[in-house]
Amino acid sequence: MTSIEPQSLAGNEEEIILTTLRAQNWDEFHGQTHIKKSLSVAITAATNRNESLDHTLFYGPPGLGKTTLSHLIAKEMGVNIKITSGTALNKTGDLAAILTNLQEGDILFIDEIHRLPKIVEETLYPAMEDYALDIVIGKGPSARTIRLDLPKFTIVGATTRFGLLTGPFRDRFGIIHRLKFYTPTELAIVLHNASQKLNVSIDKDAALDIGSRSRGTPRIALKLLKRVRDFVEVQDRTHITTDDVAQSLSMFNIDSLGLDESDRALLLQLIEKHKGGPVGLSTLAAMLNEDTLTIEEVFEPYLLQMGLLKRTPKGRIVTEQAYKHLGKSLPTN
Ligand code: ADP
Repeated sequence: MTSIEPQSLAGNEEEIILTTLRAQNWDEFHGQTHIKKSLSVAITAATNRNESLDHTLFYGPPGLGKTTLSHLIAKEMGVNIKITSGTALNKTGDLAAILTNLQEGDILFIDEIHRLPKIVEETLYPAMEDYALDIVIGKGPSARTIRLDLPKFTIVGATTRFGLLTGPFRDRFGIIHRLKFYTPTELAIVLHNASQKLNVSIDKDAALDIGSRSRGTPRIALKLLKRVRDFVEVQDRTHITTDDVAQSLSMFNIDSLGLDESDRALLLQLIEKHKGGPVGLSTLAAMLNEDTLTIEEVFEPYLLQMGLLKRTPKGRIVTEQAYKHLGKSLPTN
């Protein structure tokens, strides 16, 4: 059984379709081979010992498969998964309500776990370590703490900001994995599977083209696939070619490296207004009218990974490669 806290429902059609396309078993989950292998060992060992899985933490940029992995773990272990997020769990009472309703072995998936308020995080410590919940009853001098025993459960946390988790919190996770960006070939396989679910077929090279323009991210690859499918469907076709990919993605202003208008705007602002940098994060955010978190979590990881942007102690710098990609000449100094 999967239950979803109302707060964590994205509620838009795009997300519902992505949920439909979610990998349903390990065979449909491609890439991240080292994570799959090590999880498989941990799951088998826990199952053989009849124990719950160690608390697990996944970190990495959005859309790389953290939520999907959590569902797959629950499926493989044959346990329930309860889903919530660091922003939804803002009171210790909410946490207590969820924890006391868990059954032995259940998984509590906490998305954006770095956003948990400190007080909730600290309530989790004994729950994670001793499977116990300390509840304070009353106020002032007559207040007393009672300890409730909890079933042995597993927390699976997901975060885009590993560095924001406190040391003591991180130490309470027995299994920690960083998800990496996917190669175009890995994404092409994901796209082949998804196209079957969407009742279209796709040429190998067309899938590779989408894969290489998806910022190494399955969620983006699947969204682009849906755009290209719309493009062929309005022409009464069900097969996607490289031409279809080229035409439809240029309509959405996605370039050969997978950069969209916002990525290019970030690089161009740095080049045109600041001679390529260095520019501090908050200045950059103000220039683009975005918040610093979005720049750090959404825009930068891929630009850094592609070598188009560099982080230095003085600020962000555009690389020579970015100048070339955007067809700009390098400043003379
Ligand atoms: P995250 O939790 O890291 O933001 P999700 O698990 O929600 O990412 O994944 C986003 C979408 O991409 C989902 O539809 C998911 O099924 C798909 N996806 C992610 N990783 C993979 C993968 N390795 N293989 C196949 N599909 C994937």
